[in-house]
Amino acid sequence: MSAWNDRARAILPGGVNSPVRAWNGVGGEPVPLVSASGAKVTDADGRAYVDLVGSWGPAILGHAFPSVIEAVREAAGRGLSFGATSPGEVELAERIRDRYAPARKVRLVSTGTEATMTALRLARGATGRDVIVKFAGCYHGHSDALLVAAGSGLATAGVPDSAGVPAGAAADTLVVPYGDADALRAVFAERGPGIAAVITEAAPANMGVVRPPVGFNALIAQLCTAHGSVFIVDEVLTGFRAGPSGWWGVERDEAIAAGQVPWEPDLVTFGKVIGGGLPVAALAGRADLMDYLAPVGPVYQAGTLSGNPVAVAAGIATLEALTPEVHARVASTADAVRVGASEALSAAGVTHSVGRAGTLFSVFLGLDAPPRDFAEVSGQDTAAYASMFHALHEAGVYLPPSAFEAWFVSAAHSRDDADAVVDAIAAWAQR
Ligand SMILES: *Cc1c(COP(=O)(O)O)cnc(C)c1O
Repeated sequence: MSAWNDRARAILPGGVNSPVRAWNGVGGEPVPLVSASGAKVTDADGRAYVDLVGSWGPAILGHAFPSVIEAVREAAGRGLSFGATSPGEVELAERIRDRYAPARKVRLVSTGTEATMTALRLARGATGRDVIVKFAGCYHGHSDALLVAAGSGLATAGVPDSAGVPAGAAADTLVVPYGDADALRAVFAERGPGIAAVITEAAPANMGVVRPPVGFNALIAQLCTAHGSVFIVDEVLTGFRAGPSGWWGVERDEAIAAGQVPWEPDLVTFGKVIGGGLPVAALAGRADLMDYLAPVGPVYQAGTLSGNPVAVAAGIATLEALTPEVHARVASTADAVRVGASEALSAAGVTHSVGRAGTLFSVFLGLDAPPRDFAEVSGQDTAAYASMFHALHEAGVYLPPSAFEAWFVSAAHSRDDADAVVDAIAAWAQR
């Protein structure tokens, strides 16, 4: 295993192709993984772990789900890429719209970063304005304009911002504390006519999980409408994960139950689950806005492998298998781990809180109430998290290697898997 790490570090910067995989947030030697099936991942020494990373979100059915693997094999047999529209792209886009009504038109891309980057360009192109408003601690991928106060990977590394982002690229990005309605109103009062878009995670899950305050997303929608700005909701992580119709669907159902009119995003971005483990992401939204994209409109965006036939086959098979019953199973497993972990920590007198948005959750050690924004998240005890991470790793449970990430369960996690996680947390807490 360490031989692989040595070779990796010699050829890949930091030994990884994406920073959070390097375990900088918890210390120690990362374990190279060689296979994954159901709720388990297996390392290069053949040790299996109950996995709570789930490839950082895509693996909602569990790893190597049979119908997804079969769809990929079948699609690969028909050719890996055509460079022309193929039926699977149409079908995946229709399936996204059928579950998420505001996604009236869809463009498929390959990564969440591309989706949000394109959403900004589209909002700027359609409004003729430059200013973007984002919230501290929300992560939207690594494009220049969005790599400001961006949560997890960066928070873990202790880097407030990235080198190599020109001052000009970030100068038009205004950062507001998450959930701060007064600060958001003030920004609109001052800069309203220049604001192209507000972008937010539907529910923040890249600083750990922070439930949006009641009415906050609706307020953003209302301010954007009043000022002619575009409301971009980033559901790359929450989409078809926080609930069957993403986090928007959770709030829509709550609004309807309360006799209110649900808010709607103008644009929405997806990724992770919609590719089922292969590189698919999407930008979607109002038809009039989406038609600003080339070749209909003047906003250019393109991709050699966009809507790749093998990748969209994985996405279609994933959404097809992701029935309401399967979602209910993910929700009940998430509840079992969330509640069991919290009870185990309480029983041992460990100060903690749990952030939760639908089926997404994360445990914050050292905080006695769920944090509401990045400043509060930053008060957590990351050293205690690192200690818990390593104890669980020894016990065969693979937590996210950072205190700033959601804990991902899948439909393949059994009651025994949930118990294994809770028992390992109890053993650590009573150490
Ligand atoms: C993961 C993520 C992204 C970036 O997606 P990539 O596919 O990693 O580029 C963007 N927004 C959110 C909310 C994410 O969780």
